[in-house]
Amino acid sequence: MMELREQIRHHDYLYYVESRPEVSDAEYDALMRELRNLEAQFPDLVTEDSPTQRIAGTPTDLFKPVEHNVAMLSLDNATTPDDLREFETRLGRAVPGATFQYVGEPKIDGLGVALVYERGRFVRGATRGDGRIGEDITANLRTIRSIPTVLKPGPLASAELLEVRGEVFMPREEFAKLNRTLEEAGTPTFANPRNAAAGAVRQKDPAVTARRPLDMFLYHVSRADALGFASHWDTLEALRAAGFKTNPRAERCANLDAVLAACERLERDRDSLGYDADGVVVKVDSLEQQRRLGSTTHHPRWAIAFKFAARQATTMIEAIEVNVGKTGALTPTAKLTPVELAGVTIRNVSLHNEDEIRRKDIRVGDTVLVERAGDVIPYVVQVVLAKRPAESQAFRFPSTCPACGGRAERPEGEAYWRCTNSACPAQFKERLNHFGSRRAMDIEHLGDSTIEQLVDSGEVKDFADLYHLAVEKVSELDRFADKSAENLIRAIAGSRDRGLARLLNALGIRLVGERVAQLLATRFGSLDVIAGKSEAELAEVHGIGDEIARAIVAFFQDPANTELMKKLKAAGVVTTAPTAPVGPTPLAGKTIVVTGVLPTLSREAARELIERYGGRVATSVSKKTDYVVVGDAPGGKADDARRLGVTMLDEAGLLALVRS
Ligand SMILES: [Zn+2]
Repeated sequence: MMELREQIRHHDYLYYVESRPEVSDAEYDALMRELRNLEAQFPDLVTEDSPTQRIAGTPTDLFKPVEHNVAMLSLDNATTPDDLREFETRLGRAVPGATFQYVGEPKIDGLGVALVYERGRFVRGATRGDGRIGEDITANLRTIRSIPTVLKPGPLASAELLEVRGEVFMPREEFAKLNRTLEEAGTPTFANPRNAAAGAVRQKDPAVTARRPLDMFLYHVSRADALGFASHWDTLEALRAAGFKTNPRAERCANLDAVLAACERLERDRDSLGYDADGVVVKVDSLEQQRRLGSTTHHPRWAIAFKFAARQATTMIEAIEVNVGKTGALTPTAKLTPVELAGVTIRNVSLHNEDEIRRKDIRVGDTVLVERAGDVIPYVVQVVLAKRPAESQAFRFPSTCPACGGRAERPEGEAYWRCTNSACPAQFKERLNHFGSRRAMDIEHLGDSTIEQLVDSGEVKDFADLYHLAVEKVSELDRFADKSAENLIRAIAGSRDRGLARLLNALGIRLVGERVAQLLATRFGSLDVIAGKSEAELAEVHGIGDEIARAIVAFFQDPANTELMKKLKAAGVVTTAPTAPVGPTPLAGKTIVVTGVLPTLSREAARELIERYGGRVATSVSKKTDYVVVGDAPGGKADDARRLGVTMLDEAGLLALVRS
């Protein structure tokens, strides 16, 4: 039994601490099974530190008060590099003439926990509590597999009584998984990994904690100098040698400049750490210096927490505004009391749709927690219910369009309410904006405020009206000089011959974007032909599914759109595709994948070129791929090509093929 326990501990260590298992799950399970069987036969020989006993504590043992042997103080904060320099100045005053080395470690947003070992065996674990008295959570901590129940031989294992400290946390990935599970079960989710970890650690039933994957980094050995260590860095190494997990991003820094550089690096990398870190803990490395510096009643003088820019903040929802998009979708936006987050002032956050508002029960007047992490757009994490005003009422999504007063409806199975008024000016402004955008009709000078004025003045009621605008009329509009009116009219006129593909994209047909527009134009060549096609005929085109086909037919069946097509043609807008080049199509029947950055052709230009000469562009490499055109930084597709033996070309090779 001892031998089995030894083996299982070794594999636990490799798996949970080092992340390099040496046995399969099945082999591991077999060892566990054998141990369980033996322990069932000889119950007197079951020890508390046996791997089978990780999930064995009784709820009554939990949360008894525990007095810490050494008080767990909190850390003083620094928010700027100057604060850190001041910290060093204070150190210099307290220990005159000394030079300081430091250790910087990610400050994990988790739960501070103290573990006690007697002669190398885990006997007790407690929360930080008020720093002096914490709660006994031994049974729950025992379920965390990266916490060793028996230490590897060494100075820590042989200590009569050892107290070590660290941070219990939930890795981000596990947090996301847990919230998904909770959401599917219809139970409330956790706002962040820290709350989830706190909830797990304070579970009454250790079996529940065991199902919540927690981890722990160790960062402190109490009274380490008495154990013969000279520096904090040495204690980290001893912790590692004893079988604990320590943070691999901890750095020994020769001076304060190195500390500042480490802080900068960690802040830059904070999104890729895999766990939430909100700063860097900077400690004086020498334990002798630490001893001389001592503590105030609140903080040790030899350590400081450098805080990263905050990403979460609470603020109030002053109003919920609903706007209309180009497809008529009503989208709600929360107007916030402005709040600073990671260096940016946030005034609005999108609330996405009715379900999102309902799910989070977001109301006007609510205090909410908002987050802006990395490149993610700001969003409402949750409502702070404790601060909800008594008279608060659930938000009622409008059933009429806030712009035109038209009836809004929410089709079954869809997330959005839509304005049903096809003449809705707000929708039309959005669609006009899209019509003139760079990848559609590419009309310069047709900006938001111009559109606003053209529509509000009644000059432009549909796309075709644009082509009948007169300079005199436009220059009468607010803030329009003759010169700019002329520029606009010239730009509009110049957009007449953009061709069928761009026109199709510009029309804003539901589900028809750039790619589908290009497919339709290439296949059918003219707007009239497309308008006359049935769903089945359209769906035959590779890349156009039933749903898209349905949306296209619906568009052309609408009499208002038939009228619009007539007007556009009458206005001289080209409704056909440029005729295909005469002569051979060297790429006919070839399927080609483009990957990486090509020296001269943009991805789009490469696609146009391939399609113009009869080839088909695919997005993934298969056995049916004829060529893979490889540029810089190609990624996995080049590997796929190599593996499948598909011919690879560079840009010059593609051009040569076209010229052939
Ligand atoms: Zn409307």
